[in-house]
Amino acid sequence: MQVYHGKSVFGGIAIGKLWVFSKKEHQVVRVKVQDCEKELVRYEQAKEEAIKQLQALYEKACKEVGEANAAIFEIHQMMLEDEDYTDSIKNIVTSQQVNLEYAIGVTADNFSTMFASMEDEYMKARAADVKDISERLLSILKGKSNGELKTDTPVIVLADDLAPSETVQMDKEKILSFVTVHGSVNSHTAILARTMSIPALVGTDLTLSEELNGQEAIVDGFSGTIYIQPDEKIREELERKKEEEEEKKKLLLTLKGKEDVTLDGQHVMLYANIGNTSDLAMVLKNDASGIGLFRSEFIYLESEDFPTENEQFQIYKSVAETMAGKRVIIRTLDIGADKKVDYFGLEPEENPALGYRAIRICLSQPDIFKTQLRAILRASVYGNIAVMYPMITSLEEVRRIKEIVEEVKKELSEQRIAFGEVLQGIMIETPAAVMMSEELAKEVDFFSIGTNDLTQYTLAIDRQNPKLDAFYDAHHPAVLRMIQMTVENAHKAGIWAGICGELGADLSLTKEFLKMGVDELSVSPGRVLPLRKVIRETDVTKA
Ligand code: PEP
Ligand code: MG
Repeated sequence: MQVYHGKSVFGGIAIGKLWVFSKKEHQVVRVKVQDCEKELVRYEQAKEEAIKQLQALYEKACKEVGEANAAIFEIHQMMLEDEDYTDSIKNIVTSQQVNLEYAIGVTADNFSTMFASMEDEYMKARAADVKDISERLLSILKGKSNGELKTDTPVIVLADDLAPSETVQMDKEKILSFVTVHGSVNSHTAILARTMSIPALVGTDLTLSEELNGQEAIVDGFSGTIYIQPDEKIREELERKKEEEEEKKKLLLTLKGKEDVTLDGQHVMLYANIGNTSDLAMVLKNDASGIGLFRSEFIYLESEDFPTENEQFQIYKSVAETMAGKRVIIRTLDIGADKKVDYFGLEPEENPALGYRAIRICLSQPDIFKTQLRAILRASVYGNIAVMYPMITSLEEVRRIKEIVEEVKKELSEQRIAFGEVLQGIMIETPAAVMMSEELAKEVDFFSIGTNDLTQYTLAIDRQNPKLDAFYDAHHPAVLRMIQMTVENAHKAGIWAGICGELGADLSLTKEFLKMGVDELSVSPGRVLPLRKVIRETDVTKA
């Protein structure tokens, strides 16, 4: 048995086989070869296999997400057959007498640079595709899995680190747990694990190797331990603990349908955070009274290109319909920082968390923003939708946003397209927004405090940096005072204020938040019922 430790980001026990996630990026080395003909035969074989894989993906995607979304796999098949691409690879192999992997790597770099420099937006977006097809070829040549979970039974995913764009592509049904060597407890991958309510560890002290693939393991998310090839004693102990946990969860289910009210009669709106429509099942199962944060940027992360107005409309509509009249707060896209999307063409930045992200992108590229707003406003006809804007720092930003919303409404009216009224709120996640909250409260319908970023910016601590996890103190009095100030200023203006950052689920602070008068708490779906239990057992008036 091998035992390793990491930082736990969600409790629970997972028992199953390991699956090692290999990064798609392949390092290629240049090797001189004698037999060029052999390389060209390898190329034809890899190409054939890649086309086969893409055809299977196309058929799967057609069934799951429709033909329009599946089209990308057809485009990739065509790109693999493209004469210029093929000729370039073959020519490098034969003229330089080098290995096929090197020829593919060089061709991928050359072609993607060429596409990226084109004026036409469609051609620009092909830069990422040419890299993708080349990575697929390299994966096949290396005999690797290309990052796709090819398994019928759910597995424990082992990875060096995981970016949000990588996790969104995985089939969540097949994941029992995430265990990463790097990564911070405040990262979006950690948040994703919490949303899925699965045990997860980051900063784990193991060394990744392909040999771990398929080995039996147990993740104990309570103690932050992973056991590889566990002995009988540990297995029995943890199987028992798992059963106890299931029992506790069943007990919590008796709280379904109960009000979120304290012993002394203070009501709280208890909502859930989601990133995707697939999280809705957990929201319903855990009986949240609404959705307090729909991280809409995940729609962009899951797409190969800008999601169209109609694609977004269908998603927002289905969330609103599924929530059947309960409030759904859609946060407009918060792309940037750790949430990178190739087709946005974002340049590398010195300080991405302080950089070109979220509302700054939307205000600089209003076409992208307007497409999303149109989809949200149209979907609001089908339920109780509210919208909120991330990373606000000033009154001017809010006023400009409101002008854009009015422009969008006017355009929709002129086009005789139906839309509903939506409440408009802002996220309070920068110290500037806290300091301006008195004035900002007069401009909007509600506040939602993003404690993840508010902690990062208040304490000047990069939430992505695992070395700083020990310093990232969301209980810091500066953060708590900022929350208090925000709530007071909201109430002064007659609007409500909630918390949608991870701190909202911290049961040791629930009473303090209620005392401050926090009106809404939005947490990962799996944390709704434990929080309801604490709310119902709290008497805010008692010391
Ligand atoms: C936050 O910053 O607290 C928040 C909820 O947004 P995100 O974690 O997506 O940045
Ligand atoms: Mg944030």
